[in-house]
Amino acid sequence: MDKMDLRRCSKCVMPETHETIFFDQNGVCNVCKQHEYKHEKVDWAAKEKEFSEIVNRFKGTGKYDCIVPISGGKDSTFILYTMIKKYKVRPLVVSYDHNFYRPHHIANRDRILRELGVDFLIYRSNPAVVKKTMLESLKRKGDFCWHCHCGVFAWPMQIAIKYKIPLLIWGESAAEYTSYYDFDNPEDQDEKPFNVYINLGITADDMHGMLDGTVDMRDLAPYKYPKLKDLKSIGYRSICYGAYHPWDVRGQVETIKNELGWEVDEVEGIPDKYWYTKLECMMSGIRDYLKFIKRGFGRTAQLTTDDIRAGSLSRDEAIKLVRAYDGLKPASLPVFLEYLGISEDEFNEIALQHVVSPWQCDIKSLKQGKELWDQKHWGLTRSGQKGA
Ligand SMILES: [Zn+2]
Repeated sequence: MDKMDLRRCSKCVMPETHETIFFDQNGVCNVCKQHEYKHEKVDWAAKEKEFSEIVNRFKGTGKYDCIVPISGGKDSTFILYTMIKKYKVRPLVVSYDHNFYRPHHIANRDRILRELGVDFLIYRSNPAVVKKTMLESLKRKGDFCWHCHCGVFAWPMQIAIKYKIPLLIWGESAAEYTSYYDFDNPEDQDEKPFNVYINLGITADDMHGMLDGTVDMRDLAPYKYPKLKDLKSIGYRSICYGAYHPWDVRGQVETIKNELGWEVDEVEGIPDKYWYTKLECMMSGIRDYLKFIKRGFGRTAQLTTDDIRAGSLSRDEAIKLVRAYDGLKPASLPVFLEYLGISEDEFNEIALQHVVSPWQCDIKSLKQGKELWDQKHWGLTRSGQKGA
């Protein structure tokens, strides 16, 4: 079937296959309704005050005032900048490195950290273990990023305990793009969301069992959410900046470009006006492709939806972009397949097992996308280096 045959929200372009979506009698989706509420009814001044109070409570109580976990992408860079300049904290900056940061991104991140002058702790997990978990979670959930979802959220919590830094400041609130939570009930970034939507329903112990003894439980330690009693023993608080401040992607990007010289980069499979998002990861093209096979939409639908909700793009323009970009076959696919050691047919077969009804994907009909300028420098595979 054609992607445009899916039922889509009458305000944004999100289709019926998006997780947690439902439509009202006018065909408007629940997340659009939530955003109207965000703009009209949330008392952001009160929320910001609450945020300040939380931050001040922890200030000066230890070697660091808080942990700011970063990838170096637009969101975490903006939050780090704001926490230092506006909230005047002394942070420990931590980063879980999923193994797939692109070269330009690493240079960008390091230059900014140098400029901001912060202590930085980075953890890059064992690629051999990562590879095994990727194949396993791809097969089981149609999502190969289990290690990244878990590492990004669990490892900084372990560091909080280890270094006794109770306050963690995360980025966007999940209320921005799903309805697992709403703006009246901002979630703390703790065990609950971790188990609800972050870890794909697979704990580190589950993964250990699935991998049939080929990986030691110690190898999976970075992906294990700490015990609640250990977190409570340091009096932890783990909050999303976006739950206390109105989230303004384009404004935030402008701030870090102007104030820090943060640079954008080409991103696979999306219009160039969005080349500020997910530019850090080699795998983002493959993730979007999988999402398209499973749900009939990719990141162009999501990004244009954000712009429609922010009032900066018409629905007609969004539909044009979705038609042109969603569902392009990424030029990085051969690199990914060689890296995981599977054939394209095997990949397709796995992906098709996770298709969300009523979507039906005709993979063979998808058009080829353009290769990123740096793909030949990724060094993930020997032949990948020569270009796919
Ligand atoms: Zn909508």
